[in-house]
Amino acid sequence: MIEKAHQYFENKEQDQANQNFEITTKYLLYRQEAIAQSIGGLNIYQITITKRREAGSLKHRRKSCMYIQARLHAAETHGSFIMSHILKELSQNYEKYDQILHNNIIKLVPMINPDGVVIGNSRSSLAGVDLNRRWSNPNATMHPELYFLKKNMKVTSQ
Ligand SMILES: [Zn+2]
Repeated sequence: MIEKAHQYFENKEQDQANQNFEITTKYLLYRQEAIAQSIGGLNIYQITITKRREAGSLKHRRKSCMYIQARLHAAETHGSFIMSHILKELSQNYEKYDQILHNNIIKLVPMINPDGVVIGNSRSSLAGVDLNRRWSNPNATMHPELYFLKKNMKVTSQ
């Protein structure tokens, strides 16, 4: 499980289309799925981590949902190191975070602006806009990164 979880960070050449998967252990539910495509056609992944009902956790619909996303400003590379650490901690040392995983569904979006990262932009997306300034009213064509993330958050909150 851990190797697969780290693929996201370590095996970037692999065909991204094959990277939707779900793993369950006795304790954890771990799911990785593409929730959107950037303007440049790159998948934007969301990782869901929580304690399983079978391990004594709350029913999933009674849990709160916590989103953490990184690399909206593409050049903020430290976001990837922090995200990688969060991912490793939650999947390897989950006992330490039992209360968090018991009460919450954690959603990680490790790279919300993959186009900006690939082309080496500092803050902007491929459309040349700072997505942080479009958060309140994103457009599906111009800012799919935020539009589909927000749509996903809305569905999750219902
Ligand atoms: Zn920033």
